[in-house]
Amino acid sequence: MTIWLSVLVHTPAHSVLGSVLTYRHPAPLAPGTLVRVPLGARETLGVVWHKDSDEATGELDVGKLRDVAGVIDTVAPLSPQWQQLVRFAAQYYQRSLGEVALAALPPQLRELSPLQMQRRLARAARSAEKAGPPDKSPNASEPALTPEQTHAVEQIQAQTGPFLLFGATGSGKTEVYLQSVQALLERDPRAQALVMVPEINLTPQLEARFQERFGPLFGAQALVSLHSGMTNPQRLGAWLAAHEGRARIVLGTRMAVFASIPRLALIVVDEEHDPSYKSGEGARYSARDLAIYRGKLEQAKVVLGSATPSLESWYLSRAADQGGRYLRLHMPSRIGSVAQDLPLVRRVDMNHQARNAIFSLPLLQAIKERVLRGEQCMVFLNRRGYAPVLHCADCGWKSACPHCSAYRVFHKIDRSLRCHHCGFTDRVARACPGCGNPDIAPIGRGTEQIEEVLADLLSDVRRPGTVCAEFPLGEPIRLARIDADTTRLKGTLQTQLAAVHAGDVDVLVGTQMIAKGHDFRRITLVAAVNPDGALFSSDFRAPERLFSLLMQAAGRAGRDARLGQHSEVWIQTFQPLHPLYAALKNYDYPAFAQSQLAERAQAAMPPFSFQALVRAEARSQEAAQAFLNAASANASADMAQWEGWAETLAQVSLYAAVPMAVQRVANIERAQMLVESPSRAALQRFLGAWQSVLQATRSEPAGKGLIRWAIDVDPLAI
Ligand code: ADP
Ligand code: ZN
Ligand code: ZN
Repeated sequence: MTIWLSVLVHTPAHSVLGSVLTYRHPAPLAPGTLVRVPLGARETLGVVWHKDSDEATGELDVGKLRDVAGVIDTVAPLSPQWQQLVRFAAQYYQRSLGEVALAALPPQLRELSPLQMQRRLARAARSAEKAGPPDKSPNASEPALTPEQTHAVEQIQAQTGPFLLFGATGSGKTEVYLQSVQALLERDPRAQALVMVPEINLTPQLEARFQERFGPLFGAQALVSLHSGMTNPQRLGAWLAAHEGRARIVLGTRMAVFASIPRLALIVVDEEHDPSYKSGEGARYSARDLAIYRGKLEQAKVVLGSATPSLESWYLSRAADQGGRYLRLHMPSRIGSVAQDLPLVRRVDMNHQARNAIFSLPLLQAIKERVLRGEQCMVFLNRRGYAPVLHCADCGWKSACPHCSAYRVFHKIDRSLRCHHCGFTDRVARACPGCGNPDIAPIGRGTEQIEEVLADLLSDVRRPGTVCAEFPLGEPIRLARIDADTTRLKGTLQTQLAAVHAGDVDVLVGTQMIAKGHDFRRITLVAAVNPDGALFSSDFRAPERLFSLLMQAAGRAGRDARLGQHSEVWIQTFQPLHPLYAALKNYDYPAFAQSQLAERAQAAMPPFSFQALVRAEARSQEAAQAFLNAASANASADMAQWEGWAETLAQVSLYAAVPMAVQRVANIERAQMLVESPSRAALQRFLGAWQSVLQATRSEPAGKGLIRWAIDVDPLAI
């Protein structure tokens, strides 16, 4: 008997079905079965898709069909729901099935032979046996819930959702997740839960908190993590534990949304507004949006949580009688052990400060006072390095990157100029490369400079009670900086954070890395040095991101009730009356959201319209734009002829191709075209069909010089 099997493999194909190949096998195999198949000269991992080959593309040349090389029968087939999730994601994000499916599997699974796989599994089984059953000891660390938390947990149990848990920072959202997960896993001894967080490296405490809670209840092996910081064997181990149902809780980053979790009953998306849920390469999926889809597919409850929800989720959680589809659960109060009141927001009008001052006098004074009281301060600026550009006042030379349309950032620490786009780095010349002027100066500022300036400004301040022989006046202030530059080495972030927690740092300087999520107990002052840029950005989502970042940062201050009564957030701004800062002052997210939504509605922007970006890369900007404009013209010329397409086309607008914000990176020119529609379905229909037009345009003269193109559905940055 010979069966023709459709198998998904990872081929660089643009069309959804381009990666479904047909192979021969002597017996039928269930869809979802993992197989090894020959592909060109190599052998690769494949996933059996459907049994009959009718849907496979390509003209079947039966004589050329090759045999399945091996079946990985030690791993149970992937569930129909998992297959459907992959099918949906591939279609929605306009990528090939094979790419999405194979990228969703742990890398090591692609490498191991069936025999190696068998050995791996035997080893896993032995260690699971050794671990033994949990001791079921009652858990002491579980606090009594507040009324708001109780209400949220009860609603999550009683309703179907999806839920938007809208809770202030420090309102105890994590506790709601923990108890919801626990209730569910106790009720159904086989149920599994998926908890997603934006960046696991930033929140090692969370992993510990979950382990501490669930280890005694369900066994030390019940919790697995899934994120890119793990080694390949670790990832495979965790993936298999979830796939086989041994792991009851999967804690992971966006990639975990594709994990095989056959008995999935609950999905939590913590900090659901965080941009890192959106993938920036390959299939540019939103793990948050896929979580909602997956929840519906698997009849699992979905809880999105945030103090500053994305406007999309906020809008979807409006009252049901106004068309809302998510149930909003509100937790406005902070937990008792956290200071009751959020920090006081103070705006410093920089128009009245010395020109070019980095720190206003009142802010500096406030920092000194805090430090003298033994409290910690946090200063953040969203730009690393010393200065974003070096400049010669004589000839006008600037530190442009030769390969990108961007300036190279000056890093004083190693006197280098680094391009943050392509990585091109060299040492700073002693004199201006343009005219020889020895006096080239930095313009603008980054965290490195903030740290330097602050060290200087605070050099006369001595920590109280530290007078000793070595420091007759007392010890100097201890400054630390945390950003992508200081944390390049594995483990340094952990060490640096530990130093802050231990109180070994008086003033912490950093990028948004320090503004998110950390439970710093002794910080009583948070300062944003120069946040105005986002108010005037061409990206319509910039204010939303700034507001949420400042709210997050504010949440870092005054977490300890004993210190927090007088904690403050300082905003240095040239726009002190801007409505965004006014809303921030009252911590009034609903008011901010309402005004943003009103603006978006008026301009017909998301969530009132749906967007996709097509990006093209070519050797020249003209070529990149020509390709996009031709594909657009072809769409209106060709597709208008297609039977029944007039209505869809009428609902979709294509804009002219424009250069991307950073239009050249590593000598490649980049252009983009915005596609917009008031109807998500129409946009989807259009994109699906447009693929073939784009494909065809590539071989026309307009496609000359094109390197690649890709579609980004629901782009986060325009
Ligand atoms: P969020 O995630 O909303 O910022 P957390 O869940 O981290 O807040 O809670 C803030 C702090 O309050 C944590 O230290 C947590 O252990 C504590 N906490 C949460 N719920 C309770 C409760 N019901 N009783 C006492 N402490 C609590
Ligand atoms: Zn560059
Ligand atoms: Zn010069």
